Amino acid sequence: MSELLDKLCQNRRLDRAEWRKLLASRHILDQTGLFHRAAAERRRWYGEEIYVRGLIECGNICKNNCLYCGIRRDNHHVARYRLDRDTILDCCEKGYGWGFRTFVLQGGEDPGLTPDWVAETVEAIKARWPDCAVTLSLGEFDREEYQLWFDAGADRYLLRHETAHPAHYAKLHPPELTLAHRMDCLYTLKDIGYQVGAGFMVGSPGQSMDTLTEDFCFLQDFQPHMVGLGPFIPQKDTPFAKEPAGTLEDTLILLALVRLTLPKVLLPATTALGTIHPQGRELGILAGANVVMPNLSPPDTREKYTLYDNKLCTGDEAAEHLAGLRKRLAAIGCTVAVHRGDFPDKR
Ligand code: SAM
Repeated sequence: MSELLDKLCQNRRLDRAEWRKLLASRHILDQTGLFHRAAAERRRWYGEEIYVRGLIECGNICKNNCLYCGIRRDNHHVARYRLDRDTILDCCEKGYGWGFRTFVLQGGEDPGLTPDWVAETVEAIKARWPDCAVTLSLGEFDREEYQLWFDAGADRYLLRHETAHPAHYAKLHPPELTLAHRMDCLYTLKDIGYQVGAGFMVGSPGQSMDTLTEDFCFLQDFQPHMVGLGPFIPQKDTPFAKEPAGTLEDTLILLALVRLTLPKVLLPATTALGTIHPQGRELGILAGANVVMPNLSPPDTREKYTLYDNKLCTGDEAAEHLAGLRKRLAAIGCTVAVHRGDFPDKR
């Protein structure tokens, strides 16, 4: 297997059969060696700096019914909310004071969020904090809307592809949501000029060697600037309530393989990873991740953005505890960057 890893490190791509073979044997790989190689690659591009993003969960109203997601339309146990612009600006103000230079506005696909409102909110953030980047993660829209928001100043867009295998996509989503449309959105975002994030959950129901092979083939072809990759965690009021969560081991291995495929990629150690293991984020960084996204939402709304059960939103996950995160990162030899933290080619 080490020949396949060598080949991946040399060419930054494998063919389908090679990916299948590597992924099939991922649990018998020398994990210490794999994580060292991935962390060395991270250091080559980012040194010991970890990039932080202030995550503002701007609303949990969603017209979609993704089977895995706790804020899906049919979950009637969710107390729905939408932040107003002043509240979002207050979050940014606090975050700026703490050292955040990227704000991520993430939320459900809320029909009540008009394209103009989003554009004006982006403009307001960029006008007050011109040295900051704005990342949007609001779901699937038409080119017109993505262009409007880019012209308003949005820099990045996170839209996990969720799975690059059409039948698997259909298992995770209702029929009105298609992989083809998700992919169209990703290519459109890239074409407009955003730094684009794709990604998927590790251990989502139905994930297999075949689906993971498609994910890695897609990632090496699409060349996203960011990859969001964290464990699937069941949420009790969804159809997948009884499904097992993705594992720490699998998530770390796949993070390392993403780093080796896309050496410069912006790769978060996700909240979900921190949720399944108390040292999840540090372990993620040691396996090649270079970004963390502490929660900058108003504390009283955090519990309503329940994508999955027991989601971390306090302690060092909270943006106001950046000092705690700094300490934890210092313990693994890393520092927190106080700048926008762009993809290396876009600086
Ligand atoms: N609406 C936007 C979208 O569709 O991209 C952004 C919000 S969506 C809730 C953000 C991400 O949460 C999804 O891309 C998905 O991968 C992740 N997510 C949802 N439910 C999850 C679960 N049960 N476990 C882990 N991650 C989950």
